[in-house]
Amino acid sequence: MKVVIIGGVAGGATAAARLRRLDERAEIIILERTGYVSYANCGLPYYVGGVITDREELTLQTPEGFRNRFGIDVRVGQEAVELHPEQHTVTVRRLEDGSTYALHYDKLLLSPGARPVGSNLPGEDDPRVFTLRTVEDTLRIRAYLDEHPVRRAVVVGGGFIGVEMVENLVHAGVDVTAIELADQVLAPLDYEMACMVHQNMRAHGVDLRLSTGLEAIEQEGAGLTCTLSGRVKVFADMVLLAIGVRADHALAQQAGLELDIKGSIRVDEHMATSDPDIYAVGDAVAVSDFVSGEKAVLPLAGPANRQGRMVADLINGREASYEGTQGTMICKVFDLSAGATGNNEKQLRASGRAYDKVYVHPSSHAGYYPGAETLSLKLLFDPASGVILGAQAVGKEGVDKRIDVIATAMRGRMTVQDLEKLELCYAPPFSSAKDPVNMAGFTACNVMKGDLRQIFIEDLKDLDPEKDLLVDIRTQSEYDAGTIGNAVLIPLDSIRDRLAEFPKDKRVVIFCRAGLRGYIGYRILVQNGITNVYNLSGGYLTWEPVYGAKNKSCGGGKTTRIPKEKA
Ligand code: FAD
Repeated sequence: MKVVIIGGVAGGATAAARLRRLDERAEIIILERTGYVSYANCGLPYYVGGVITDREELTLQTPEGFRNRFGIDVRVGQEAVELHPEQHTVTVRRLEDGSTYALHYDKLLLSPGARPVGSNLPGEDDPRVFTLRTVEDTLRIRAYLDEHPVRRAVVVGGGFIGVEMVENLVHAGVDVTAIELADQVLAPLDYEMACMVHQNMRAHGVDLRLSTGLEAIEQEGAGLTCTLSGRVKVFADMVLLAIGVRADHALAQQAGLELDIKGSIRVDEHMATSDPDIYAVGDAVAVSDFVSGEKAVLPLAGPANRQGRMVADLINGREASYEGTQGTMICKVFDLSAGATGNNEKQLRASGRAYDKVYVHPSSHAGYYPGAETLSLKLLFDPASGVILGAQAVGKEGVDKRIDVIATAMRGRMTVQDLEKLELCYAPPFSSAKDPVNMAGFTACNVMKGDLRQIFIEDLKDLDPEKDLLVDIRTQSEYDAGTIGNAVLIPLDSIRDRLAEFPKDKRVVIFCRAGLRGYIGYRILVQNGITNVYNLSGGYLTWEPVYGAKNKSCGGGKTTRIPKEKA
């Protein structure tokens, strides 16, 4: 069996190594266009920022290493330029001298990844305008930083590559303007969760401009002038374009293989293309979204690796099928982490799926043990069955663990009722006896059982002082430090003595800092005959990053302010 693999990084290298483990006699050839194989794409931003200092660390394997350990023929600097499925051959170009040759295969794997999307703007060819995908790109950026006095950079695009590059350029001592066309960074998060990330980026000195596009790049003296939406001009010594990636379908298209959404390669559940002897994996293919079942392109390293491994099994006659991608992701944003799994609210709304949601903001570990940090967790679930549809978390500690637990639960098609029962590891330095994941499960179950009725921050704009009373049930000092609109203060511990102040002819909307005291207040009120009560899910901690603190202009519960982020 002769297997040719096009692309020698996440999907391709994984497939090659497993192929060898399963079949000692197979002839395995990897064609890789760049000069490196099995490199750590995900680590590249950290080399630019000087966090990873040894460039050898970026290349997990060398062609020699592959040959010695796995007996795999890795041909770097060689590009597959044409596929001939009927003849089972690939035309390969040696980039060093442009010479070509034909290579026969029995089975072919395409793992060509994706290419950075260009801006199509004049000026993008300037050598001070960069994209980041390969080791070569990384070395180019690092060399530019080392050889030039780079004081200001513009990073275009707020996806995870853009955001990681913002952090790393700041780490390298550069003032960064980050621009994003959407009203938020990190699309897997919903807007209100992303606002926590925006706050943190700005707190670290990033000039973050949302709902802003790049309109022109022009040379100006020794630097570049970027024209942004509204003809605003920003000067930069360098520009990084991170406006997304597009599945690399060039070879598949040339070979007449079927394509799918967003120019990706169509594959079945066995990662086979429309030619049964050609498989495709990774960023280049369309997968099914694990939650919705709809077609999706989700360029992430984990899925690429797993698909590569699976194809090796299939080539060796084993049974396997790919069961969809959840989009589980995490991104470090300075001292904050933002993670997500499954569908977010935007996706659920777009696909017309019924959902409910809860927000909790518990401590990452026992509050009395030093170093505990607030962890903001949003859980989305089916309101009828409780099946978990997605989760997002933002915080300084413990985000990865909670998203991983929920991602695992989702794979098992578990429900919020199951989250209540999860027995997770606990000692004070690590968690609480009721882990944040349990807490999210408890809260969701309270909602499903009717023990708690919720209102959300986006609903506050509809409050009418004639019909609604907004009550802050935190303490006087918390209230003085900033409340929502014209909320009246009735601290939780005084509610039983002040029941008369809660009108029975109005809807009562209560809120606290994180939602937990609100739940207690809710239970007190409804059991004392004040039944038209709603608790603001996630409380002030969900509201504040979106609408801003210390602003009482929301008026008698009529929160008509434009969100700070959108102003
Ligand atoms: P790749 O790993 O990109 O490999 C494709 C290879 O194929 C490339 O080296 C390319 O040169 C080669 N190739 C393409 N066409 C040809 C051809 N015709 N002939 C020969 N060779 C060819 N994902 C995460 O999950 N977490 C992260 O933190 C994360 N961080 C990232 C940071 C950066 C800067 C980048 C660029 C990506 C990051 N990703 C991350 C995404 C992740 O790296 C990709 O999802 C994953 O590498 C995709 O694997 P792949 O095999 O499909 O493609």
